[in-house]
Amino acid sequence: MPFFFFCRSCQPASQHRRHGGPLKSVLFWKMPSRKYADGEVVMGRWPGSVLYYEVQVTSYDDASHLYTVKYKDGTELALKESDIRSQSSFKQRKSQSSSSSPSRRSRSRSRSRSPGRPAKGRRRSSSHSREHKDDKKKIIQETTLALPKPSENNTRRYNGEPDSTERNDTSSKLLEQQKLKPDVEMERVLDQYSLRSRREEKKKEEIYAEKKIFETIKTMEKPSSKTKELEFGGRFGTFMLIFLLPATVLYLLLMCKQDDPSLMNFPPPLPTLESLWETKVFGVFLLWFFFQALFYLLPIGKVVEGLPLSNGRKLQYRINGFYAFVLTAAAIGTLLYFQFELHYLYDHFIQFAVSAAAFSMVLSIYLYIRSLKAPEEDLAPGGNSGYLVYDFFTGHELNPRIGNFDLKYFCELRPGLIGWVVINLAMLLAEMKIHNQSMPSLSMILVNSFQLLYVVDALWNEEAVLTTMDIIHDGFGFMLAFGDLVWVPFVYSLQAFYLVGHPIAISWPVAAAITILNCIGYYIFRSANSQKNNFRRNPADPKLSYLKVIPTATGKGLLVTGWWGFVRHPNYLGDIIMALAWSLPCGFNHILPYFYVIYFICLLVHREARDEHHCKKKYGLAWERYCQRVPYRIFPYIY
Ligand code: NDP
Repeated sequence: MPFFFFCRSCQPASQHRRHGGPLKSVLFWKMPSRKYADGEVVMGRWPGSVLYYEVQVTSYDDASHLYTVKYKDGTELALKESDIRSQSSFKQRKSQSSSSSPSRRSRSRSRSRSPGRPAKGRRRSSSHSREHKDDKKKIIQETTLALPKPSENNTRRYNGEPDSTERNDTSSKLLEQQKLKPDVEMERVLDQYSLRSRREEKKKEEIYAEKKIFETIKTMEKPSSKTKELEFGGRFGTFMLIFLLPATVLYLLLMCKQDDPSLMNFPPPLPTLESLWETKVFGVFLLWFFFQALFYLLPIGKVVEGLPLSNGRKLQYRINGFYAFVLTAAAIGTLLYFQFELHYLYDHFIQFAVSAAAFSMVLSIYLYIRSLKAPEEDLAPGGNSGYLVYDFFTGHELNPRIGNFDLKYFCELRPGLIGWVVINLAMLLAEMKIHNQSMPSLSMILVNSFQLLYVVDALWNEEAVLTTMDIIHDGFGFMLAFGDLVWVPFVYSLQAFYLVGHPIAISWPVAAAITILNCIGYYIFRSANSQKNNFRRNPADPKLSYLKVIPTATGKGLLVTGWWGFVRHPNYLGDIIMALAWSLPCGFNHILPYFYVIYFICLLVHREARDEHHCKKKYGLAWERYCQRVPYRIFPYIY
């Protein structure tokens, strides 16, 4: 097959014709709609580059005319027919190619045959600005070769990793590229790794004036498709969870109210339906929610971009959670100053939980209805099964927004998380009032301070939430709405709620030991999350240059030393240690205050398995290699 066929999809029409394009068009017109059969081994273009790798055709979608192909590392992508070549054509090409250095080969290919490059004659007759524009096009396309795509050193033989596998050199790799490529190219590389400073935005706009090229590349990515693998027990499991989760919250709160909250006393006396609902409480809850929404809308705090979505788009998020917390603290302080009885929250705790549950249900119904009108590309990869109950539970739409107001991002860290701290404070005041204490108990102080640290940390590092599963993968449905608005504030505050009715006296040495445990957990949790977050946002960060990385076919690396080389989820380990430290101040009389740590271990073990599954799909062999290098998931030498 002639060279001109290389990356035909990006060729300007004129160049296409020059190389006999019309003839090919006629042939294509007469050909059957599908050229390659399922199971056929062909060469598929890697998105964002002009490099081809051996792939196997797994299916063909008649509607979109896209082939689903599988790369050798297990990565699956949807490609257009024009981005697929037969293997024989490459054998011919290889014999004709004289370039020995793969990187040189890539560069020379793109120089001589860059699809974005116009024909010589035409270039001569064009104006200078046009030439300049075309050069930009060319350079931008060449830079795609510089990105860490699979086996850049060997475009034919790819086994999931480049030939030189592990490196702690993401930064040096970039520097190397900087030496090799023109400035504009480095711009593109820096942009890929989010290294660009905000003030360069304008320059960026100029360079990206020729966005069409990237749009073409983006279309090659797999469009959002139906969810085939159902989690949480599928349709039946999610249906049950919709009832089980609220029932669990109610059970825990009712038990906590008992003088003897032993599990043997199951079931607790059920309250009447009327006693569970109070319109005034619901009104206070709504007020709280809308005040937090107002704080979220304040134009304070920086605006950052999230990780690229499946269509390449990046959403913008305002980072002002910490400001919202400070404003809330000021508002609560003012209320207390004017003698507002915050333990109203304690007195009506169950009614508040019921109000929040009712609100989260209404919100979930709204989210599901609006998701039915959302374009396919906006749907969550895990919540698009086509089954109403399943999609309602897991969340059908990935990032539902009303204008710029991101509902999922808002609920994730604001009303529930800040609400949790306010509830804890209310419990502390209630304890003092009920037990006639001038000071809160040591246990209550520990629980309040540990959890306050956790919430402040989450809000201070709000940007890190943008790389978590909740934001990247999970849609916004009942699971997250209920989790954020009900489960977090009303179940996570269980220890403080428990201590009001069941005071425990602990000694200073015990308190010191528990504090040290919490600090260890926090240190692991924070450093692991920061390490990964910084690496994902800027793999070339010089502060991370000592870390070793396994490159993957997607261009993202996997940290294999540092915290992420200790266990595969060091952040979960730290979180679990902290969870234990939160329960210990409640003593050992009952298991109820340990519900959080038990549930949390189950949650994170399940979450780890989900993440593992997604990463395996995403990274293929590179992930398996990572698992071999880092055999333990959460607990070293145990699990
Ligand atoms: P993580 O922050 O652990 O993110 C998992 C992702 O990290 C993977 O999908 C992968 O994504 C990336 N990754 C995995 N291994 C590596 C590696 N070796 N090198 C680089 N990147 C890697 O997921 P969560 O969203 O589950 O957790 C975030 C935090 O929130 C944790 O600290 C967790 O404990 C906490 N959490 C707290 C909860 C609570 O209720 N208190 C509930 C759930 C979580 P990719 O490669 O695509 O970047």
